[in-house]
Amino acid sequence: MAPGPSEAIVDQLFALLETAGQSAYFGEPVTQVEHALQCAQLARDSGAGEEMIIAALLHDIGHLLEEDGLQRHENVGVIDHDAAGARYLRDRGFSDRVAALVGGHVEAKRYLTTTNPSYFARLSPASVATLELQGGPMTAEQAAVFEGDPLKDDKLRLRSWDETGKRPGCPVAPLSSYRELLISHLNRAHN
Ligand code: FE
Repeated sequence: MAPGPSEAIVDQLFALLETAGQSAYFGEPVTQVEHALQCAQLARDSGAGEEMIIAALLHDIGHLLEEDGLQRHENVGVIDHDAAGARYLRDRGFSDRVAALVGGHVEAKRYLTTTNPSYFARLSPASVATLELQGGPMTAEQAAVFEGDPLKDDKLRLRSWDETGKRPGCPVAPLSSYRELLISHLNRAHN
């Protein structure tokens, strides 16, 4: 039997992670797919819900896309990878919440660099370097808007996993262990 739409979408995502995802995660000691799996593992281990786990796994999918019209920078990868990833996932039937979390992970970094000096001190050198290209710290007005976002706390949690999920050799569950979760999410979102 031919795979249904949800299976086909997950196959496509896994193919991206297993091929383009073998590339280095800009200046970090892990590959893109290792980073994705570590972030998803941190989400799972913290007891996060399904949408948070999916967002953690797929938050950087924008970097792996090869669609026309995406601009690349040699040091930061796809420009606006947060918005590109959110759009890609929304177009394929992922929930608005998953898309918004993926689309908000750079915004969360910009917020934290404005409001939390100790956060800035913990950023990896590569993450500091990309900050300017991502718009730099938020203005006070932008930070006030972010504070009113109902997804603020979840975006900040995702960001903390993003910061942590860069440990070389960290043991993680394989990509295949997320397959059923993704398919059931898509099947529900499609119905
Ligand atoms: Fe990331």
